[in-house]
Amino acid sequence: MVSYKTLGLVNTRDMFARAINGGYAIPAFNFNNMEQLQAIIKASSELKSPVILQVSKGARNYANQTLLRYMAEGAVQYAKELGCNHPEIALHLDHGDSFELCKSCVDMGFSSVMIDGSSLPYDENVALTKKVVDYAHQYDVTVEGELGVLAGVEDEVVAEESHYTKPEEVIDFTSKTGVDSLAISIGTSHGAYKFKPEQCTRDPKTGRLVPPPLAFDVLDEIMKKLPGFPIVLHGSSSVPQEYVDMINKYGGKLPDAVGIPEEQLRKAAKSAVCKINIDSDSRLAFTAAVRKVFVEKPAEFDPRKYCGPARDLMEEMYKHKIIDVLGSDNKLAQ
Ligand SMILES: [Zn+2]
Repeated sequence: MVSYKTLGLVNTRDMFARAINGGYAIPAFNFNNMEQLQAIIKASSELKSPVILQVSKGARNYANQTLLRYMAEGAVQYAKELGCNHPEIALHLDHGDSFELCKSCVDMGFSSVMIDGSSLPYDENVALTKKVVDYAHQYDVTVEGELGVLAGVEDEVVAEESHYTKPEEVIDFTSKTGVDSLAISIGTSHGAYKFKPEQCTRDPKTGRLVPPPLAFDVLDEIMKKLPGFPIVLHGSSSVPQEYVDMINKYGGKLPDAVGIPEEQLRKAAKSAVCKINIDSDSRLAFTAAVRKVFVEKPAEFDPRKYCGPARDLMEEMYKHKIIDVLGSDNKLAQ
């Protein structure tokens, strides 16, 4: 048993409370490798933003869970080296799908876990979530639950159809389970293809898809039922068209990739939405930068010469999100 507190990590309780009151949201960035982690820590430390490092089941399989945990511990020290004397870094399990997985993360030093029972019948979701909360809270680890289903593909999480969170369920769910935050479905979606062309309109000038707006009426109803309760948005990459264009220009093929417009995320961040998950945008930035080097310098074979530019582009993207979308810059407690 390793407590996250000895690793210098924090849980999400305090950062969420401040984010709700302050009208901003905490970035939750997924990481799978060193360059991503460096870019996240550099961006969040230089901008004095709290940050949530997210590890999905796929990341655990790819990078090894023990290594990921030590990387997060290293990240705390790296943030201090960068001049951030009191970094607020949470290590969070994204889309935990079983009690055993959540328990293993709590036991190895995660400060926060998500138990995603959203695909289960309601009563089973309640029972599973409560079981995880009862275990995690013994160690002061915060828990995120989910109601409603997001469409899209994220590692091993696949859903064909989405359905919005039912506002009439949220009070019962949060009081029965004791969760610290609730992921809801209001039209965001996992992956780089968040919407099918038939769900969108097309901008006549650019030919680009324009996605349907988020269901802010559903969010409003949920906030009325749960005043001051931390709400989480998954699947909130905006799929920047500059990266999609770069990928396509340098030999890639991502037709009609489309995300959530940043103005809508900014609007959500000002409400009780206090955690916004962004994963695909960093994948796109990474891929765009690597493809560019491969095309422009075909003789290059030192991975540092293409992972380095990828890291730089991700850092720029993270900084933009923190300042212009989430508003979490200069929000460290001390
Ligand atoms: Zn998700």
